[in-house]
Amino acid sequence: MGIIWTIADYRGARLNPQTVELVAAAQELAERQGHRVWAVLAGADPAPLAEALRTYPIEKVVLLRHPQLAYLSAFPFLQALRFLADRTEPPAWVLYPHTYRYYDIGARLGVAFRSETVSDVQRIVWEGAEPILIKPTFTNKFIARIRLTGPGPHVVGLQPGAVSADAVRTGGSPEVLELTPEIQQAGRRHLVRSIEAARGKVDLANAPIIIAVGRGIGSKENLALVQELADALGAALGASRPVVDAGWLPFEHQIGSSGQTVAPKLYIGVGISGAMQHVVGIKGSKVIVAINKDPEAPIFKIAHYGIAEDLFKVVPALTKKVREWKEKGLL
Ligand SMILES: Cc1cc2nc3c(=O)[nH]c(=O)nc-3n(C[C@H](O)[C@H](O)[C@H](O)COP(=O)(O)OP(=O)(O)OC[C@H]3O[C@@H](n4cnc5c(N)ncnc54)[C@H](O)[C@@H]3O)c2cc1C
Repeated sequence: MGIIWTIADYRGARLNPQTVELVAAAQELAERQGHRVWAVLAGADPAPLAEALRTYPIEKVVLLRHPQLAYLSAFPFLQALRFLADRTEPPAWVLYPHTYRYYDIGARLGVAFRSETVSDVQRIVWEGAEPILIKPTFTNKFIARIRLTGPGPHVVGLQPGAVSADAVRTGGSPEVLELTPEIQQAGRRHLVRSIEAARGKVDLANAPIIIAVGRGIGSKENLALVQELADALGAALGASRPVVDAGWLPFEHQIGSSGQTVAPKLYIGVGISGAMQHVVGIKGSKVIVAINKDPEAPIFKIAHYGIAEDLFKVVPALTKKVREWKEKGLL
């Protein structure tokens, strides 16, 4: 029985929502393999964030506090984790968020522990107690299924949406362990300034319903049709890359390998063919609905529900129905 470290990510005074997904993944792994879960928070002053993590039934929340950890530079971060492993015990698994802040750190962690790192994991499937890590390879042309063998620590970077946050179990009161690690080698990367990207009204990462529009919509003017359905359903508007490339919607709407990865409860793809580069971004969706006039479109292979019809017929009819249901209090 070992420990699973869940590396908690945060922005300012808020935990990144993906941290909850990592905790959910760690809980499942712990249950199947008989491990304990620790959430590890590193920062200049991580204490105020600890409360949010204390709501989960995990064994420990570890706070690694040091001024060198204010900005996640690989050297201080790795020394802090090494310190934790030496003071306690090395982990069996390390789960980290596969996001810009952690790309390079994840790879170095594997080296530091003389083990393997599997980054960019989109999904976990289980063979009994063993997790099979699913990730894209060769610029998304192939999907790899990876089994980690041998002694750990196994270091795994999970994409946003790889595991549903809904699966997380709450209701614990883990012990808090606060440590000030010895950091001899200072970071070589220094944050000059951090500028929050203008997000507009689009929050695809947290939207429970997303309607994504593809090239099948034909023109920028026709977007209004899909926007009406999105408004009726209270959905966020996503897009495939051609829609963004054509300048019909800004980049913040793009879903897929070069856009955002999303994991809504409901995804509705309108006039989207289902190219691999788009599909990798929506795999975490609970329910996928596709509207496409071509019954052979690849998106129907992954859709839970499909409507093989002209979107210009289906979308207005759906909007009308949704409005009716809302008036009757059925939605
Ligand atoms: C390196 C790289 C990165 C990429 N990154 C991304 C990415 O992040 N996101 C992304 O989406 N793509 C990405 N792509 C592009 C991707 O390969 C596809 O070209 C793209 O996803 C196709 O978008 P689409 O489905 O909207 O268009 P199309 O493939 O042209 O499909 C349009 C669909 O609309 C249907 N249609 C047409 N008219 C109607 C109608 N009246 N009613 C109903 N259906 C209709 C058609 O049957 C068709 O299936 C990337 C490509 C590369 C090479």
